[in-house]
Amino acid sequence: MRALVTGCAGFIGSHLTEALLDDGVEVIGVDCFNDNYGRPSKLRNLERARDWQTFEFVPLDLSRGELRDIVTGVDTVFHLAAEPGVRASWGPRFEAYLRNNVLATHHLLDACCGWPTENVFVYASSSSVYGQAETFPTPESALPQPLSPYGVTKLSAEHLCLSFHRNHGVRTVALRYFSVYGPRQRPDMAFSRFCRAILDEACIHVYGDGGQTRDFTYVDDVVAATRAAATQDVAIGGVYNIGGGSRTSLRDAVSVLSEIAEAQVDVRHEPVQPGDVRDTAADTERARRDLAFNPIVDLGSGLAAQFAWASEDALRASHTS
Ligand code: NAD
Repeated sequence: MRALVTGCAGFIGSHLTEALLDDGVEVIGVDCFNDNYGRPSKLRNLERARDWQTFEFVPLDLSRGELRDIVTGVDTVFHLAAEPGVRASWGPRFEAYLRNNVLATHHLLDACCGWPTENVFVYASSSSVYGQAETFPTPESALPQPLSPYGVTKLSAEHLCLSFHRNHGVRTVALRYFSVYGPRQRPDMAFSRFCRAILDEACIHVYGDGGQTRDFTYVDDVVAATRAAATQDVAIGGVYNIGGGSRTSLRDAVSVLSEIAEAQVDVRHEPVQPGDVRDTAADTERARRDLAFNPIVDLGSGLAAQFAWASEDALRASHTS
């Protein structure tokens, strides 16, 4: 197997890349070191992968054009490259969302037209496509009504996948990830900010009253689902919720984290941010049936792993600065 992982220097992409390499898959990794966060963090994410002879890194901006060469000889594309995050998607940065989420996905799908018939294109979509859902847990059949520009671009790219599948036979699978966490989580995400605040002995800023809930999903469970999506014929042309089943309020997550860190935390509440939904919860029945999806990491163990990583990372950063 030879796989292309886009966004390989990112949080989830770097974990997926390592899992594939560990299992003897040859990986071509593409990333453009988008400026959503620091290049040094992304270079660190790539460190382990670079130890493998079977890993080739190609610095490339997918939104810029002709990608046929990069998909030639590859049998699976895991398309994780994107401009992520709800809050930054308002205002002038929206152009980057359009480019990196919609245009880049279009170029990549276009390059896959006429591909060998057994090849598979797995697309990392998002629970943000649902917006303020009306049914909990939310099934894939719920009408997507994104509440943020980010969600709109993720849904657009999902529809591009389906259009290329139906019209051009590209075998696509879209996975709607729910609040992914774990080591290397993006610095703008809640648990990352909370870990940093605890380590800096600073206060934790929570948007809203803390009663909002998320279906938190540990990164290894996401990686397992993503790999499974590439191997199941029944999944082709499908859309799947990938949620960890650890639906918890932010308030409770903060208290789990403070126990792990053995720290008293000072929480400051900030106004709810535009685009932030109140609750998310994935109905994972379809993924369990077709992808044998079975998330195994509970919030306590996953947060402990993330906090341990954040502590090491902070130590390392203090030695290099
Ligand atoms: P990330 O920012 O850590 O990783 C994305 C990577 O894509 C970055 O390294 C970036 O440099 C790269 N990239 C962006 N545009 C590119 C382009 N045009 N060409 C090449 N590389 C490009 O983000 P993440 O949290 O790891 O998210 C990975 C994927 O999962 C994204 O598609 C995101 O929308 C999706 N997702 C993430 C979550 C989550 O909770 N983290 C939830 C739902 C969906």
